Amino acid sequence: MYETLLMIPGPTRVSSRVLKAMSKSIVNHRSAVFGEILNDTNEMMSEVFQTENQSYLITGSGTAAMEAALGNVIEKGDKILNIVGGKFGERFMQITETHQGIPVELTVEWGNAANPDDVRYILEEEEDIKAVTMVHNETSTGVANPIEEIGKVLKDFDALYVVDTVSSLGGDDVQVDNFGIDICVTGSQKCLAAPPGMAAITLNNNAWNVVDKTKSKTYYLDLKKYRKSGEKTVPETPYTPSVSLMYAMNEALKMIMEEGLEARIKRHEQAAKATINGVKAMGLELFANEEASSATVTAINIPEGMTDKNLRGTMRNKYRIELAGGQDHLKGNVFRIGHMGNITHREIISTIAALEMSLKEYGYEIELGTGVSAVQETYMPGNNTLEFF
Ligand SMILES: *Cc1c(COP(=O)(O)O)cnc(C)c1O
Repeated sequence: MYETLLMIPGPTRVSSRVLKAMSKSIVNHRSAVFGEILNDTNEMMSEVFQTENQSYLITGSGTAAMEAALGNVIEKGDKILNIVGGKFGERFMQITETHQGIPVELTVEWGNAANPDDVRYILEEEEDIKAVTMVHNETSTGVANPIEEIGKVLKDFDALYVVDTVSSLGGDDVQVDNFGIDICVTGSQKCLAAPPGMAAITLNNNAWNVVDKTKSKTYYLDLKKYRKSGEKTVPETPYTPSVSLMYAMNEALKMIMEEGLEARIKRHEQAAKATINGVKAMGLELFANEEASSATVTAINIPEGMTDKNLRGTMRNKYRIELAGGQDHLKGNVFRIGHMGNITHREIISTIAALEMSLKEYGYEIELGTGVSAVQETYMPGNNTLEFF
């Protein structure tokens, strides 16, 4: 059987090196051997976050880190500014409510990026906002938000800056320290190209000052416990971590170090550009405002006369390429191509080629090769600064 090519925004394809790392024997999670692996993994994690802060790994999916971020900061009645332009922005708001915070919502039309001026306006109007939540890469709409510019706005206010980089870290530029991010979270199964099940979080001193003063209403995700265990001579996690996933994260991060973060980000930019050029050449429309388009996932309107079932079903069953559908009200109207993690020109070319065939089979007017040649052009020397992709 062919392996299905995952062109979805997580989980992404995991390299055989990482899969193999997971097959190593399980060790005592409270031993020097594991302590070293944990330390090494945390350090590489901080490098990818581009921060001097400590990072912590949490056994759980990306949402666990999102909840850890807010659960350690919110006490009943605290006001949180939630910037919501898609499914994951909504999730931060729901977590705010779960922890009995009061959400102040900045609604951004799905498909557009948040406007830093709007953030400033709300922070000036509303008193006592304790934290601002922002999703860097809104995976549901294919939008990359201006986290650097919003970070500049937040420098003038006391509110903590909490950023979800689950679908961007390791694929787009996330400079935790330089962008003024106080708490940053990510997950294993997207651009980091590790299996699902691990999350990571990093907090600076501003954030720890708030966490130390907050009576948190979370037990498993109490970050003070992660800090305490991490500070032991032989670092540990408070509870049993997934040892195998820690091996996987360690290996996946090593591969990122080998590629180089900058080269990796460029590779993602190139893949996004190629995908966008390919689908546009086919006459398809992007869902998101192109200026705000993501480096890691592209959302595309399903053309008239085509159904989601036929489109993605053909891609999956005939060509063995898995694409993602739309979420919530975009279901049936939009499909998404994930180009994150271990994605090169090979995967983009195959995906665009199969997309042409799938659409043509259902009567969409297209000359085969139109999209593919646009992808090829994008990767030609002159249009592309990468030596390897
Ligand atoms: C995938 C994702 C998450 C986390 O989802 P999990 O299923 O919990 O890993 C959070 N935010 C964004 C932007 C995501 O893309």
